[in-house]
Amino acid sequence: MRHPRSISSPSRGSRRSSRRRKLSPTSPTDFWDSLAAFANPVPHDLPAAMRALGIDLLRELSKPDSTEYLARCPAHLSLTGKRDRRPSFSVNSSTGLFHCFSCGYAGPFIQLVEDGLGFNRIEAFQWIARLGVYRTVEDTGPTPAVDDAVRVTEASLALFTPPPQRACERRRVSPEACQHFGVLWNTETRHWILPIRDPLTGELWGWQEKGRKFFLNYPTGIRKSLTLFGDLTWSGDSALLLESPLDVVRAYTLGIPGAFSSFGAHVSEAQMRLLKSRCRNLILGLDNDSAGRTSRDKIHDRWRPRGLPMKYLEYSHTTAKDLGDMSDTDALSAYGNAHHPWRRRR
Ligand SMILES: [Zn+2]
Repeated sequence: MRHPRSISSPSRGSRRSSRRRKLSPTSPTDFWDSLAAFANPVPHDLPAAMRALGIDLLRELSKPDSTEYLARCPAHLSLTGKRDRRPSFSVNSSTGLFHCFSCGYAGPFIQLVEDGLGFNRIEAFQWIARLGVYRTVEDTGPTPAVDDAVRVTEASLALFTPPPQRACERRRVSPEACQHFGVLWNTETRHWILPIRDPLTGELWGWQEKGRKFFLNYPTGIRKSLTLFGDLTWSGDSALLLESPLDVVRAYTLGIPGAFSSFGAHVSEAQMRLLKSRCRNLILGLDNDSAGRTSRDKIHDRWRPRGLPMKYLEYSHTTAKDLGDMSDTDALSAYGNAHHPWRRRR
């Protein structure tokens, strides 16, 4: 997505362009190596960086440990068809995270640079570095994705145990797969514990507690729509998008690579961007019910033009509504026979 207003590159951009090309990633592995090294840079002078992206600051909101810079949302027009009249968009001075309350456009500052200037992540990093001193999120406080009143740390997970064998068998997931994704068990409530982590740093934001016909996100208000459940360090050819985190564990158990969960049928722009940066094509495996199918078609219509090839998980051979309810054979065949959207819309 581009900002509605045109943005010009920094003045030295043209001279640097050939060098930039040389530094571009040659393979996804190089890319993720570089990204791991870069983490999440935030410009030292955030208001100046925003102005350089063509985003006018309208207000500043002082908080105890940071400042929120308010502006009109640069993505509003392309996401909703309307311009942002109020300043719905804010960038946090401490974390560099941006968020539009109205359309949900959100992510780390480097994403704003990528979207605004049409850069890849490495070019965006270089652009931020050229503006002067920058910090990475490691230097700053916790991200505001979690309510300040309830701070979750890795130690919070010590309350839970690895899932018992019987529970694993019931959900047809292997203990190794649970371990791979850090899935745990609440022995008191006999519920699954599915950690929710920062997609860039892996920092723990909270978890989803899940039982039969029960689920609870902790802490309340956790912004799970800014991340995915899955192996967040994975990148590869083909990713699979599922609704339920436990189905990601099931897919891994079956040997299906690159499965991620959006924590439900609603898939945010930020989640789609996280997926797009990790794969060359995407299999949409949202549930085979009306919410899942509607969301699937919407994602396809919105993201196919942005250069993400997609297939749909095959459901014609089964009455199951998701991968977790299928037998091993049916699940593997649903994945193996994923089809192009134009072939069948049901
Ligand atoms: Zn917006």
